[in-house]
Amino acid sequence: MKLLLPETLRAIGEKSAIGQRLDEIEALRLYECGDLNALGQMADEVNRRKNGDFASYILNRYFNYSNYCILSCQFCAFSRKKRDADGFELAVSDMVQKAREALSIGITELHIVGGLHPSLPFSYYTGMIRELKAVDQRLKLKCFTAIEILHLAWLSKKPVPEVLGEFRSIGLDSLTGGGAEIFRQEVRDSIARGKETAEEYLDVHRTWHNLGGRSTCTMLFGHLETLEDRVDHMRQLRELQDETGGFSGFIPLPYQPDNNGIPVKYSPDGFDMLRTLAVARLYLDNFDHITAYWVGMGLKLAQVALCHGANDLHGTIMEEKIFHMAGAETPQMQTENEMINAIREAGRVPVQRDTFYEPIREWAGEKVLSKI
Ligand code: SF4
Repeated sequence: MKLLLPETLRAIGEKSAIGQRLDEIEALRLYECGDLNALGQMADEVNRRKNGDFASYILNRYFNYSNYCILSCQFCAFSRKKRDADGFELAVSDMVQKAREALSIGITELHIVGGLHPSLPFSYYTGMIRELKAVDQRLKLKCFTAIEILHLAWLSKKPVPEVLGEFRSIGLDSLTGGGAEIFRQEVRDSIARGKETAEEYLDVHRTWHNLGGRSTCTMLFGHLETLEDRVDHMRQLRELQDETGGFSGFIPLPYQPDNNGIPVKYSPDGFDMLRTLAVARLYLDNFDHITAYWVGMGLKLAQVALCHGANDLHGTIMEEKIFHMAGAETPQMQTENEMINAIREAGRVPVQRDTFYEPIREWAGEKVLSKI
């Protein structure tokens, strides 16, 4: 690791302190910074200007409708073929049951993704959205990655804007940000051959944003990519955000090493996770929210990330398969109290948020300060 000369760090810090946009060379210089405390402090100052003392979490529930997939991305430990004994697909009625249970304990968002199923009809997906929305209109549905949307467009023989418009009209609230991986094609070919290109990923999100929808976006880091690839990935997200303003938040995802075909046997270390969040906070000046994903980082390190540029801990989640099948050793869920305590102990004010990072409740001490 090169040590960034203090005067260079100071010059970049002064630029970000007055709200000037950093370029890619400067982002790379920050990545090469050996002084994590100084980098984290710079990112923390930018975060506090945007979000004050608040840090958020969401009461959400994950589930997957199926893990059957026609692709075989090298990094994926989740997908199965029809011949595999541990493949599954849920009936819509099972999902409705999960939605009812989630609603009864205060969950505000269902986060639903799956593989590219070889045979389920398009009506399965529209039925899923309709019936889940019918459980309660207030339950926000955050579903599908960009590659699933492309698959469903192919399946239905409809253009992407039509598929997205139809989903939006029947109750889809947000796209998920999954599947971005790393945008550079050579890396994509090595970790997710056959998946959509960067342009296709971005174009699905652009189309959704132009329809009035919002989505999150991600970056899978710590495998075969270079630091230049990470900065270039964030550059492309920043450019789309300049164009549409439709990204509600950025969620860097640390690579998980088990049960896949990639010759990288370790997750990124804690230092790398924290500096990635800090660089993201400093470089992505047009993003309001940076999420520390506790499923990949662990709650304790995600908590520390709240002082390194992140302002959100993601959610309660309840049932996570994709990271855990790839070796994540974190629990399946966090309780609301655990998330509140983690935020409070980091010296921030906990805020329960909705799918779009809008506040629902603020906490002061043990009390709800405001209910919005
Ligand atoms: S990452 Fe997604 S598209 Fe690729 S194999 Fe896994 S489930 Fe299928």
